[in-house]
Amino acid sequence: MVNHTQIEEDLRSLLDHSEIKTYEPLKNYTYTRTGGPADFYITVHDIEDASRVLQYSHENHIPVTYLGNGSNIIIRDGGVRGIVLNLLELNYLYESNSVITVGSGRAIIDVSNYARDLSLTGMEFACGIPGSVGGAVYMNAGAYGGEIKDCLTEVTVLDETGKRITLKNEELGLEYRKSMVQENDYAVVEAKFSLKPGKLEDIQKMMDDLTERRSSKQPLEYPSCGSVFQRPPGNFAGKLIQEAGLQGHRIGGVEVSKKHAGFMVNVDGGTAGDYEALIEYVQKKVYSLFGVTLNREVRIIGEPVYRRAERQK
Ligand SMILES: Cc1cc2nc3c(=O)[nH]c(=O)nc-3n(C[C@H](O)[C@H](O)[C@H](O)COP(=O)(O)OP(=O)(O)OC[C@H]3O[C@@H](n4cnc5c(N)ncnc54)[C@H](O)[C@@H]3O)c2cc1C
Repeated sequence: MVNHTQIEEDLRSLLDHSEIKTYEPLKNYTYTRTGGPADFYITVHDIEDASRVLQYSHENHIPVTYLGNGSNIIIRDGGVRGIVLNLLELNYLYESNSVITVGSGRAIIDVSNYARDLSLTGMEFACGIPGSVGGAVYMNAGAYGGEIKDCLTEVTVLDETGKRITLKNEELGLEYRKSMVQENDYAVVEAKFSLKPGKLEDIQKMMDDLTERRSSKQPLEYPSCGSVFQRPPGNFAGKLIQEAGLQGHRIGGVEVSKKHAGFMVNVDGGTAGDYEALIEYVQKKVYSLFGVTLNREVRIIGEPVYRRAERQK
């Protein structure tokens, strides 16, 4: 792999409309407020630059990690080696014939609100999910009986060489919190959602109802990553954790929420290490009491300990 200084010089001459930061603390970009530095943190403003980054990193064997809104990710305290690619500036949004086309960096909540303003129904479920469109497609995000799979028609992705590929809904392997974007390491850059004409009052009423349910049940006043675990078949992670008496259990600065047992909140300067230790503790406890394995929904990436890639002359 080329050295740090050379990579920085190459990237600056290669990219037209992007910001490049080095040794950037990632805790500034995650909902849990945890995460050590990225060697290179690049915010691209157009798809062409995203493609150039991928082509360059592929040719030079530099790992690339995509970051959306950071609402479903725990980045370890040692940070991420290589390039972290922020796609949030790919945020255009327009509608034609009840199809909304949106850049992957746009908040999924914006898409839900935009659909409502056009009296289009089908995206009400997403009105409180704090992720980007790219993260929502990657996770097949869903809530209250709806999911991305129900309204997504196609996405444009970049493969690891930077080549654009368009994939239809049925080619995306969308299942509960799963998509083939995960296995293929694609960068999602655009999505299209097909919706139906509806009545503004009905759409607004449903969104108000879901917002009320969310704010009354979820600890939105604290940093968190949403539901830490997936729903085990025929059960609920939060119910099992509650029955195990784990609400309020704390490791370091992170505790199992007293308001919603499926959430872990950063109450006092908690680290990614605290999160991981608490997740493991809860998994072991629930398994020993109920014989149920809790699989994580939240992604965990990065290195536990920071090893700085020194600048070389
Ligand atoms: C308070 C709270 C409530 C939540 N409620 C819900 C809910 O009701 N339903 C639900 O499903 N989730 C929920 N979540 C989790 C989260 O909002 C979703 O999973 C969301 O889709 C993640 O999007 P993101 O942009 O934040 O992704 P990030 O956290 O930034 O990343 C998550 C994963 O997606 C990948 N990724 C992100 N963008 C791209 C891209 N453009 N291309 C390729 N890969 C990408 C990342 O590499 C990472 O592996 C909640 C989270 C919080 C904090």
